[in-house]
Amino acid sequence: MATYKERIEEQRIATRRYILSKFDDRCAYCGCELDMDSLNVDHVVSKQAYRRIKEDLPSNFEVDGIDNLFPACQSCNCSKCDGSVEWYRDKIHELRTSLLDLSPKVKIAMRLGYLTFSNKPIIFHFEKYQNG
Ligand SMILES: [Zn+2]
Repeated sequence: MATYKERIEEQRIATRRYILSKFDDRCAYCGCELDMDSLNVDHVVSKQAYRRIKEDLPSNFEVDGIDNLFPACQSCNCSKCDGSVEWYRDKIHELRTSLLDLSPKVKIAMRLGYLTFSNKPIIFHFEKYQNG
């Protein structure tokens, strides 16, 4: 019979496995492949944001609820940090612009045709996944 500690660990692993499977074992944002070792669990509405905006959210919203937890790669989880999805989208857009402003190497790579930027809207993997 499993000890209490073992049951808690089994539950934690089952929860992580469920979160990983939400978007076909891919990061909800950039869409890179993930596994149980590379999985980061992102709070879509961060705990910090929740304290600010909880009266605007449905009364049954749970910041640690499974619906608020998305699979993310380390890069996206760290970059999104406590920001909202829209904040992260804007941040990526600004990054694209700042790379062009700051890096002569990026400019040279673009001139030589090794690198291109598009002006396509930033659509995260989970948005494509949810829209089929
Ligand atoms: Zn990612």
